[in-house]
Amino acid sequence: MAQLSSRLDWFTESVIRKMTRVANKYNAINLSQGFPDFDPPEEITNSLIDVAKGGPHQYEITWGSNEFRKELARKQEHFMGIGINPEENIVVTCGSTEAMMVAMMAVCDIGDKVIVFSPFYENYVADTILSGAKPIYVPLIPPKFNFDKEVLENAFKQGAKALILCNPSNPVGKVFTLEELGFIAKLANKYDAFVITDEVYEHIVFPPYKHTYISSLPGMFERTVACSSLSKTYSITGWRLGYVIGSKEVIDNCKKVHDFLTVGAAAPLQKAALEGLRFTDKYYADLGKLYEKKKELFLNGLRECGFKFYEPQGAYYVLVDISEFGERDDYKFCQWMAREVGVAAVPGSSFFREDVNNYIRFHFAKKEETLIEAINRLKTLKIKAMEGIK
Ligand code: GLN
Repeated sequence: MAQLSSRLDWFTESVIRKMTRVANKYNAINLSQGFPDFDPPEEITNSLIDVAKGGPHQYEITWGSNEFRKELARKQEHFMGIGINPEENIVVTCGSTEAMMVAMMAVCDIGDKVIVFSPFYENYVADTILSGAKPIYVPLIPPKFNFDKEVLENAFKQGAKALILCNPSNPVGKVFTLEELGFIAKLANKYDAFVITDEVYEHIVFPPYKHTYISSLPGMFERTVACSSLSKTYSITGWRLGYVIGSKEVIDNCKKVHDFLTVGAAAPLQKAALEGLRFTDKYYADLGKLYEKKKELFLNGLRECGFKFYEPQGAYYVLVDISEFGERDDYKFCQWMAREVGVAAVPGSSFFREDVNNYIRFHFAKKEETLIEAINRLKTLKIKAMEGIK
């Protein structure tokens, strides 16, 4: 029998998305796959109603509608502080998932090496392998998840073509400091490598931390392939609207890959989402505050439960340390927790290259009442665990 592709032997299906199915199976509160259970802004959903009647319903320009790119360029110029030409510097994609895949395929040749910080969002390794490249892992060291500068430089020295930077980061909630970004930029320049970013949590940052776009650092626009999306910013994860921002050379390559991968992001949704792209600064400030409140509520609840965790500086995840339960199989722990406690999380091992299995990841992109109910259930966890984690 002919052999199926051996590339796929190098990674498993997404554990994050699998945990959503586990949550559904046990009717557990789904704090695994990160997406909101509250509605998007009304301006956007109302606009969708109008678009249903008035269109467009056919293909848009493959790299995004004129209007969408124009509004996105305006918004991102404002936040990133760099000039963005909507004709030359943007490709609109089906979510940042496609954006990252496009970025990787636009940059990598077969056999190239790509630096991935560990822990990482699981797509990066799959993207690396699917684009024919090989990952080089650099640990973010618990409990603060900083990196060792020498280890990072050694990774670049191995001839890395690119580094993947998730900032604010999933799953740890680290917001890279200006100093760290400057160091990464310095190495990217010194060793002539690209930086491919995932900045989908750009507007979810908790004071005093601040998000810096690495592509805005001196000399970095030309070597950064900046990926992000509207999913988290406007609570529309199911709309699959993402984008890549970069130099004309980078984007010309991205346009080619995107054209043949998906042709284009949904035309009606691009149109309806324009309302969001036109929001004023207040919307983004309020979004940050909303998530800060959710973070406080959820973390206080975790403290009351007696859990240990690293407090996130941005994004909407928290890694909780489960060492005290002595269960070495974190996937089993999460299955048990979904079934017996009624809350679903992601086993931390799916984010780590190293043999680390003492974390589980919760997200807190949920209504306050959902988070309160989750905490109430989690308060029963320690007692239930004494009966055995099966
Ligand atoms: N980023 C989300 C998470 O980590 C999931 C996104 C997705 O499943 N496409 O949970």
